[in-house]
Amino acid sequence: MIPKFIVDNNVGKLAVWLRALGYDTLFINPIDDSDLVKIAEEENRIILTKDTGVVKRRPVAMRQVQALFVRGQDWRQQLAQVMKDLRLKTDRCFTRCLACNSLLVACDKEEARGHVPDKIFRLYPTFVKCASCARYFWEGSHWERMRGVLAAIKEQGS
Ligand SMILES: [Zn+2]
Repeated sequence: MIPKFIVDNNVGKLAVWLRALGYDTLFINPIDDSDLVKIAEEENRIILTKDTGVVKRRPVAMRQVQALFVRGQDWRQQLAQVMKDLRLKTDRCFTRCLACNSLLVACDKEEARGHVPDKIFRLYPTFVKCASCARYFWEGSHWERMRGVLAAIKEQGS
């Protein structure tokens, strides 16, 4: 089964990177500990947190809810730990909206016209869009940089 996540506010930067990897990741800010644990339990999500209080909560201590205590200060260290400990894969990169976590769907190039800068529209042959928030994405330098970061982190961890 593909793991799903809920990211605590103290490691919020992880959310966008887990989404970039294609993992279903919730990030609610602000959220209190009891809601965090409750949502994780209801939706079968793994909690990522730096808060020992969350880890000590009863459903987590009883292992009804899985939580990973994140150690690193810097998001790169944090992401490296999560990818390694949970054996995350990089083969589903950019299948999810970085902003809202919904799945991206293919769209006709024409559809993207007017929704992306003209220069981008001319330059790229294909676009995908988020079915929920209607943002358009393309295989540009931004994704390339993110792929590079993820590949470097994965290499370190292996
Ligand atoms: Zn979206």
